[in-house]
Amino acid sequence: MNLVLYNTFTRKKEEFKPIRKDHVGLYTCGLTVYNYAHIGNLRTYIFEDVLKRVLIYDGYKVNHVMNITDIGHLTSDADTGEDKMVKEAKKEGKTVWEIADHYTKAFENDLEQLNIIPPDHHVKATAHIQQMIGLIKRLEKKGFTYVADGNVYFDISKFPEYGKLGRINVESLRAGARIEVDSAKKNPFDFVLWFTKSKFDDQEMKWDSPWGRGYPGWHVECSAISMYYLGETFDIHCGGIDHIPVHHTNEIAQSEAATGKKWVNYWLHAEFLIMNEEKMSKSKGGFLTLSKLVEMGYSPMVYRYFCLGAHYRQPLTFSDEAIETAKSAYNRLINIIIDIKKNRTVNKPNPEFVNKMKKLFSKKINNDLNMPEALAVIWQVLRTNEIGNLEKYDLILEFDRIFGLNLIKAEQVLEEEAQQNVDVQLVEQLIKEREDARKSKNWAKSDEIRDKLSDMGVEVRDSSEGTFWRMKS
Ligand code: AMP
Ligand code: ZN
Repeated sequence: MNLVLYNTFTRKKEEFKPIRKDHVGLYTCGLTVYNYAHIGNLRTYIFEDVLKRVLIYDGYKVNHVMNITDIGHLTSDADTGEDKMVKEAKKEGKTVWEIADHYTKAFENDLEQLNIIPPDHHVKATAHIQQMIGLIKRLEKKGFTYVADGNVYFDISKFPEYGKLGRINVESLRAGARIEVDSAKKNPFDFVLWFTKSKFDDQEMKWDSPWGRGYPGWHVECSAISMYYLGETFDIHCGGIDHIPVHHTNEIAQSEAATGKKWVNYWLHAEFLIMNEEKMSKSKGGFLTLSKLVEMGYSPMVYRYFCLGAHYRQPLTFSDEAIETAKSAYNRLINIIIDIKKNRTVNKPNPEFVNKMKKLFSKKINNDLNMPEALAVIWQVLRTNEIGNLEKYDLILEFDRIFGLNLIKAEQVLEEEAQQNVDVQLVEQLIKEREDARKSKNWAKSDEIRDKLSDMGVEVRDSSEGTFWRMKS
């Protein structure tokens, strides 16, 4: 089955053809680690994970690189505004390094909870300053840069292709003058490659460079890191749609100006998660994190299921009602799978039907990652009478290589769900009281507590290593 992907660059669905047979170089822009990821960011990372799973399913060996933006970029993508990391460090009374470390760990934990396959290289921008300096030096040598007010700028007038990705018409935009003017810039669309004149007195992260002690502009990190790991031209680059007009536009300009080659063959962008008719963003505050969702009773897998329910190029609106619907559909799915597992009836084998379903599924996922329709296929399999439970179960596990919904652990999912609804502290306290009763051979009390726990849905197991408990299935 040929994989077809919508390429933002050409605004067309195209058949995917890798540069190297059976191999894919994939770069996805990482998080700016000055705060927790919000569930909008996580929608984009789930989409990228699905893309990767489809590539792997299709037999490709994927080399996936993602940066960690631990050098704060500014509150505006266009080199204006405050430094996000410095601002947060001040607020929390910590160093920027501590801020980056804390939020990187939290982000990696979110990815794990969402069953997102970790990138092969999840690397810090601060560990690649030399690669960034190298790239800027190349640009300087070729005459694409100028220094003004102590900062090194990329001169877009030297790169006639500028703005092609976002279909930006520089002339008409300039006429509209909607971009904040930096008097040092020759053109409002020029952007900083290296800052030596920090706009912030307390910028802690600085490195020596041929242009003086300072720090890199935000865009340069993705170009330098991706080329370092994937080569000067690679297959796929992803991000959210907000990155099309500035970040990815600038990444293309500086990369292709430096190498004189096409940088990326396929550009894929996820639409936004929307909340209360507004895009979810950190700067606006009041955003939802994965752990807040869990507190609200929605497991990471429920959120993953919720995201799979919409095509990645459609905006997705988050609401209490929508997530609740996803939760009940996901729980229904899990319950049916548990039933199927318990009763592995074998019908007369029906390999034609199994193959038909596999083909249909493959068609959906290879058609620009159509997850809503792929989910419909799994439901079709669950409801059919054409095959027995054994064949159904095998198909479910195969499809879950793409969905990543942990369907193999269906029972555990229910158990965890039930555990969320039990007062763990009270259970632990009762277990302790029961142990004390057993020690003093007060069997009546011990049995009474066991019954009480049983009424709460808790099963108690005594072993030589102590007493264990779990929710009854
Ligand atoms: P940032 O840390 O701002 O670079 O964002 C990390 C990733 O999340 C990028 O790929 C963004 O394009 C993406 N993103 C930001 N806001 C949203 C949103 N509301 N919905 C979906 N993706 C988003
Ligand atoms: Zn990037």
